[in-house]
Amino acid sequence: MELIDGKKISEEIKLELKEKVAKLKEQGKEATLAVIQVGQDPASSIYVKNKKKACEYIGVGSVSYELSENTTEEKLLSIIDELNERSDITGILVQLPLPKHIDEDKVIKRIDPKKDVDGFHVENVGALVVGEEGFVSCTPNGVIQLLKRSNVDITGKHAVIIGRSNIVGKPMALLMLRENATVTVCHSKTKNLKEICKEADILIVAMGKPRFVDHEYIKEGAVVIDVGIHRDENNKICGDVNFDDVKEHTSKITPVPGGVGPMTIAMLMYNVVSAIED
Ligand code: NAD
Repeated sequence: MELIDGKKISEEIKLELKEKVAKLKEQGKEATLAVIQVGQDPASSIYVKNKKKACEYIGVGSVSYELSENTTEEKLLSIIDELNERSDITGILVQLPLPKHIDEDKVIKRIDPKKDVDGFHVENVGALVVGEEGFVSCTPNGVIQLLKRSNVDITGKHAVIIGRSNIVGKPMALLMLRENATVTVCHSKTKNLKEICKEADILIVAMGKPRFVDHEYIKEGAVVIDVGIHRDENNKICGDVNFDDVKEHTSKITPVPGGVGPMTIAMLMYNVVSAIED
């Protein structure tokens, strides 16, 4: 069994981006990411802080909007309109989740697709479906990088994905299809989940259920990617996969923490940089 080291791979990517940003600066191209947070959800505040830190590290600008919990939808939309117009702002990110009185869909659709570095806008999702260029959702794109940079051959492999959310499962399936895998998507209504997973050469788990997947779901020698992040009853971080039970049955596996987690910000930075590349 070999560990897929997401921390190391994400650092490699950020270093490559840092070098690219320096070159783009010489050509007079600069990126600035606008990050908008509504309310003070502690987890969101940590994510926002880490995103700003990553911008600083790779050498791109960031501006942040910390809006109060009771900000109106109208106010948020008007800030997005303003940022869409500003030529110095090259990427816009609205930290989710938003307070209940704000329609997330409406907010995402308001972002200029060319500045939608999260890759959530329907125009970017549509581009992924038909194989056109566009921003790709960061977490699933990070999984592709983990596989490629760990020399996992994806072509012709049977990839099973557990989860069909708009931000992980669905784009993950499309990306694996683009990489020529044979793809099966499982979800909460899937029958015979265990049997299907046992046929996977590459099993990608994004179901939001702590340590759900044990060795009975694993074909001997499979590659296992765990997207889940939870805190267990002892406040320990764990994934959707029961790592200790599964690891010896895999050829390669991502740990939690230190697997998929660090890749999300690295791929966000990738999108921020690609916004100014052409
Ligand atoms: P979600 O709750 O939106 O989706 C979960 C999916 O799993 C659903 O499509 C559901 O149908 C499926 N599912 C749930 N129970 C199931 C079951 N018993 N059998 C089969 N399928 C089942 O979650 P999400 O936003 O896609 O996130 C999934 C996990 O990944 C969560 O643990 C989340 O915290 C984590 N996550 C991590 C990152 C990262 O940066 N590493 C980013 C996003 C999400």
